[in-house]
Amino acid sequence: MNSFFLTTPIYYVNARPHLGHAYSTIVADSLVRFHKMLGDDTFFLTGTDEHGDKIVQAAERQGCPPQKFVDEISARFQSLWPQLGIAHDRFIRTTEPGHKRVVQAFLQRVHDAGDIYFGEFGGHYCYGCERFYTEKELENGLCPQHKTRPEFINEKNYFFRMSKYLPWLKSYVEEHEDFIRPRRYRAEALAMLESGALEDLCISRPKTRLQWGIELPFDDNYVCYVWFDALINYISALGWPDDRNFARYWPGEHLVAKDILKPHAVFWPAMLKSAGLPVYRHLNVHGYWLVRDTKMSKSLGNIIEPVEMSRRFGLNAFRYFLLREMRFGEDASFSEDALINRINADLANDLGNLFSRVLSMTAKYFESRVPEPSAFLQTDDAIAELCLHSLQNFVQLFGGTQFDAALESLWETVRALNKYVDSQAPWALYKQGSTARLATVMYVLLTAMRKTALCLWPVMPDASRQMLEQLGSPAAETVPPVPALRKEGNSFDGLSPGTVVASSSTLFPRIEMKRDAAPKTRRGQ
Ligand SMILES: [Zn+2]
Repeated sequence: MNSFFLTTPIYYVNARPHLGHAYSTIVADSLVRFHKMLGDDTFFLTGTDEHGDKIVQAAERQGCPPQKFVDEISARFQSLWPQLGIAHDRFIRTTEPGHKRVVQAFLQRVHDAGDIYFGEFGGHYCYGCERFYTEKELENGLCPQHKTRPEFINEKNYFFRMSKYLPWLKSYVEEHEDFIRPRRYRAEALAMLESGALEDLCISRPKTRLQWGIELPFDDNYVCYVWFDALINYISALGWPDDRNFARYWPGEHLVAKDILKPHAVFWPAMLKSAGLPVYRHLNVHGYWLVRDTKMSKSLGNIIEPVEMSRRFGLNAFRYFLLREMRFGEDASFSEDALINRINADLANDLGNLFSRVLSMTAKYFESRVPEPSAFLQTDDAIAELCLHSLQNFVQLFGGTQFDAALESLWETVRALNKYVDSQAPWALYKQGSTARLATVMYVLLTAMRKTALCLWPVMPDASRQMLEQLGSPAAETVPPVPALRKEGNSFDGLSPGTVVASSSTLFPRIEMKRDAAPKTRRGQ
């Protein structure tokens, strides 16, 4: 049995959860569900990052002690995920005592390896980024992220000898094509490693300046830099070093947004290497959701609330949209019009309509039982082949994080099935009394629909379950629906003649677009 350990970033609790957080977590949830269906031993981790300057400042603004502040925001994230259909195995918080112990053990190990030194350092510190910048990294003397002038701070701190591991890391990335993916981010990481701008990493903050952090095990006048602490969550959640979950699930994969490429592509592998641990298998990097081509921000008032969207349009439809609309790795635009178009075209028209037509015909012609097929004609074979081919493509593409293409591959079958209904005209076969031929046509449709419904479970768990139930799968066997998805692509079967199916289906109602732009002209009356 293969193990599949996937993490989302642990979200920084200085703000409420938004669409970006929801996207990362929904993608991760879908990918873990997909691996469950392949029969893998999965572990899905998410959580919250709770230390650092920005948390202290945000808590102060609310007149609240930091612990109380992080408890509240972390609880918001925890209560959000079930509402978006997320089924994580572990929610980690970096203020947990267990995590703190692991961070200290990790620091001690890196220290013992001779990779931590104490030094005086003058650097350009950006409070927004909570980190020092080298001269080379600044753009016209300003923080490249915040476009503000960093403060020059001269103080004694501890440093991680990251530069020692950069030549190794560069060749590792070069030798492992899909270590960082998609490709553009691999190229970006290589460019960082080749730029010469990366130096040793300052990993401490003096307590005189910041107390909200994990104390260094070898000097209690300092706390650990928040990124060094946060990255370690990926193994503290597995109980490194002693817990058997670590041996069982590490190395795993990470999923992050592109703004945190550097800590994941550079700091983290160097840290693991220094501690003598294997690096992760893949870093999967996604782009941003934009609204009218600009980034979402509170000040622009264009924040998309994921829970509100899923309430208004349906959770399954919302999840489908996020995976179908964004090409993983690139930016995508979010708009209600685009969401409604997807729901109406793909879900209501193509998929929903197929289920509703075929189930009502099965009720009418065969008393809602899957009929026994007779010999396939060429046209039936073509549909069966297309269906199996779609399914194999789906498995290949989804596993490679090409979610949009994977779903499109399934929809080729869905659209072909609708055309098959039109061309085979079951109502005409019924009228003519061609019962054997009618039975074959209905069998082909129902079998292909079942395979499609199965593949949709990672993305739309409830809708998939509903479709499978309508096709006669008992509800009990549905988590996950079938633990060996690959086998489903081998032969066109899976639905026994005689199985009782639902007599009707309403899965995705059409959504009427609001048309409020043009002034209405009254006629008559
Ligand atoms: Zn900054």
